[in-house]
Amino acid sequence: MRVMKFGGTSVGTVSSLRNVKHIVENTSGPVVVVVSALGGVTDLLIKGARLALDGMEWDETLRTVEGRHRDIVFSPLVAADLQDATWKEVSDLLALLRNYYTGISLLNDLSERTLCNVVSLGERMSSLIISRIIDDAALYQSMDFIKTERWFGKNIAVTDLTDSLICRRFSDLGTSCRVAIAPGFISTDRDTGDITNLGRGGSDYTAALIAAALEADVLDIWTDVDGFMTADPRIIKEAKVIAHLSFLESMDLCNFGAKVIYPPTIYPVFHKNIPIRILNTFNPEAPGTIITDEHKASSLQLFRGVTSISEVSVIDVGETESLRAPELHTRVLNVLSKHGIEVLLSASALKGMKAAVRRSDAAAAMRALREDFAGEGSEATSPSLDEHADVSAISAVGENIKLHPDTSCRLSDTLQDAGIDVITSATGASGFTFTMIVPQALHKEALTALHRLI
Ligand code: ASP
Ligand code: MG
Repeated sequence: MRVMKFGGTSVGTVSSLRNVKHIVENTSGPVVVVVSALGGVTDLLIKGARLALDGMEWDETLRTVEGRHRDIVFSPLVAADLQDATWKEVSDLLALLRNYYTGISLLNDLSERTLCNVVSLGERMSSLIISRIIDDAALYQSMDFIKTERWFGKNIAVTDLTDSLICRRFSDLGTSCRVAIAPGFISTDRDTGDITNLGRGGSDYTAALIAAALEADVLDIWTDVDGFMTADPRIIKEAKVIAHLSFLESMDLCNFGAKVIYPPTIYPVFHKNIPIRILNTFNPEAPGTIITDEHKASSLQLFRGVTSISEVSVIDVGETESLRAPELHTRVLNVLSKHGIEVLLSASALKGMKAAVRRSDAAAAMRALREDFAGEGSEATSPSLDEHADVSAISAVGENIKLHPDTSCRLSDTLQDAGIDVITSATGASGFTFTMIVPQALHKEALTALHRLI
């Protein structure tokens, strides 16, 4: 059996849904189809909640959401005799949305829990409608089998429990219906049963959890691009599709900024050695990118792709008499990991160390370190902390980087030759991703210079 996931743009309009219907109905054997909310709807749902919180008019946002779904329910895609009943069910969910918005504006309060309820409606509506569009399909409620728990203020999937619930729920697939439609992104808390989600972009991860649990033959991610590219094509016009990647390469490309799939997606399927294909709903004949456990790149190729995270902060930590650089380095990484903050790069510096984090994590990182160092005595004797907020992280990714140890020098030299100052650099844990921190203003120039080396 196979698992397919269709993203927001793929399910966003009547014409794109026609492609989805065609693609799914032309597969054979049992298939699980994981779907996102209609493109842009999650953002609209959040916008409405914020307007309600600010005491502003949210009715128009709600009407836009309603209109988007109505256009599809009353299109020829849904059989005429199913339209009214389907619309009745969608209307019940829209009524819930209206109640949530009313509640938010009355109470002037928008908790994370309420927001999770609000955004869940996007996938609940899309999956319901799509289950009426595709032949021989039935709706499987992800909230019953994707379970999360709290971890540093975030909801993360509880994989063992989720795995067994998926196996149980899908045991009838192929006998009761050929196609199972499941909403992506949404889940419930294992202890409270509250509605949660897997984070923005999390539908890919839902599909991966299902594919891994059911030991699918393949996980197809249908999106709106032709696959992983050698660089972001919006920045580098010459960027090309990468036909094949290893699991590890794709993981690093995602972790260091490629936006093709949600980073945690690869992990569960990698463990079961299930290939992933990235395919384009709008260009279904294109071969896309296939991700497997093989390493097929020619040894002549320096690296596979270059990615970037444009909004980064570098935290400079200065050593002290009692806390010398090596010990300080470990300490900083421990503190940040204890707070669930991802370190994009860490490197020793002359009298201390540097850690690069996403700019959105920088304030929390500074706070965590400041609190931790407060135990070191007075401000004068504790390590100094400085944040540099105007930098980007540029990464070259490819298993060949490990084979050719001089690659990192070539990459840094290339940037220096282009007049771009490398503030700090390091090889990632995998050994085949080399990340350089450059001034944010030169981010495009850095990508362009490196892309020429591929
Ligand atoms: N609808 C959710 C989002 O926009 C999840 C997803 O599409 O993967 O983030
Ligand atoms: Mg996505």
